[in-house]
Amino acid sequence: MLIPRHSHPMSTRTNLLPANVYQYVLRQTREPAVLAELRAATSKVPHSVMQIGADQGALMALLVRLIGAKRCIELGTYTGYSALAVALALPPDGKLIACDVSAEWTEIGKPFWRKAGVADRIDLRLGPGLDTLDALLAAGEAGRFDFAFIDADKPNYPAYYERLLKLVRQGGLIAVDNTLALSGAPIIELDSIHAQAMLAFNELARKDERVELAMLTVGEGVTLLRVR
Ligand code: CA
Repeated sequence: MLIPRHSHPMSTRTNLLPANVYQYVLRQTREPAVLAELRAATSKVPHSVMQIGADQGALMALLVRLIGAKRCIELGTYTGYSALAVALALPPDGKLIACDVSAEWTEIGKPFWRKAGVADRIDLRLGPGLDTLDALLAAGEAGRFDFAFIDADKPNYPAYYERLLKLVRQGGLIAVDNTLALSGAPIIELDSIHAQAMLAFNELARKDERVELAMLTVGEGVTLLRVR
């Protein structure tokens, strides 16, 4: 059985919960006004289903604050909602390196980053994420990041993850998106290369002694991995 897509006026986000429960979650979620404005602007562009939900944004902001993160990396920025949620949770001298291949999509987020007063905390790197991560490693940045979020092209997840294990400090956190579903469909019911990639990533992560992990049923599945 496929879990149906659930929509809400505040979000076209798909998720794993019954529609009425998720609508309640959204009503009880505090979403800063500037994030709500960016969500609304994104809903008019293609692939807006890729935008994370307000509840997931709140979770990421809380995690960033909980671990006192100052330096973060994101793979897959899209229109910049998660980047803005993380940047708002950073201290004024905090930095997020936001990686994406699309100038067109990331351009949508920039006015909202500026309006929120956190544009200087977001260092957008356009280009293949693996190149950006390799450049950071080559520049001696290993162990210098506190928090990472992977939400980009699924077949590259293991490659992103291996590099992030080097870049994120001991005790730092890697959050991985879409570990349970893709565009509203559970990965265990799909046979696309993207779903196969996520199933393989989950196996890799479960067996990886270098991390402690918890799989959350937030959004389309978010696995949190703490670097040992
Ligand atoms: Ca995603």
